[in-house]
Amino acid sequence: MRFCSLYSGSSGNSLYVEGTHGKVLVDSGLSGIKISRALNEIGSDPATVNGILVTHDHSDHVKGLGILSRKFDIPIYLNMNTWLAVKDQIGKVKDENVNIIEAGKEFEIEDLCVKAFPLNHDAVDPIGFTIRSANRKIGIVTDTGTLNEEIYENIKMCDLVVMESNHDVNMLMAGRYPYFLKKRVAGEYGHLSNETAAETIVKLAEEGLRRVVLAHLSEENNFPQLALETTRNKLKENKLHETVSVEVARRFSPSNIYEL
Ligand SMILES: [Zn+2]
Ligand SMILES: [Zn+2]
Repeated sequence: MRFCSLYSGSSGNSLYVEGTHGKVLVDSGLSGIKISRALNEIGSDPATVNGILVTHDHSDHVKGLGILSRKFDIPIYLNMNTWLAVKDQIGKVKDENVNIIEAGKEFEIEDLCVKAFPLNHDAVDPIGFTIRSANRKIGIVTDTGTLNEEIYENIKMCDLVVMESNHDVNMLMAGRYPYFLKKRVAGEYGHLSNETAAETIVKLAEEGLRRVVLAHLSEENNFPQLALETTRNKLKENKLHETVSVEVARRFSPSNIYEL
């Protein structure tokens, strides 16, 4: 499998996953032009993408969804609640390109085996994904205020995990966000902190995880270096820093391309 984060953060998210034959995007939260450009940059033709998986209805995840589906005739995969929430905002998508999915039920796109699982976030019906192919597995968890046993069970034993590391709790609390927004971001249905991400990554690493991409960083309440060091320090405390690679997904440019 190949993986690359094209864009990450509240300004727009899009991840790229490739199997032996199948190619999918997870979210398309920027203009069609920007996402096409990033795909070209990593040597992938947008016209060959077999599907767009959608995590939830927030615009930083669906902004380019309709455009890309129309322009390149790409099927989209999303749950019913998310479809109902976005269908009037994204323009016409061909009926046969709309695939309604359900958490817990695996489905296939070419050789990619995809499973969705529920997250805790203030969207209509947010989900994370695991994507498997040829004995390799990628787990994707962004836009969730908290983790639980079900989420953890889904993302354990992955070869690569994309984990939200949205904010530093101290920066958020001392920052200039109004109180209601601080409560929202730090709340059960907000976003995952650096600290929670780091603790979870240590647990996953103890069970064999070797590659981590920290994602969806807040522009206001985080720094890439701080997110990176919070996780690296936690790994170091647990003597796992030499076995796990950690990268911070960039806001406006593609990450490393991972070959699994
Ligand atoms: Zn988001
Ligand atoms: Zn969101």
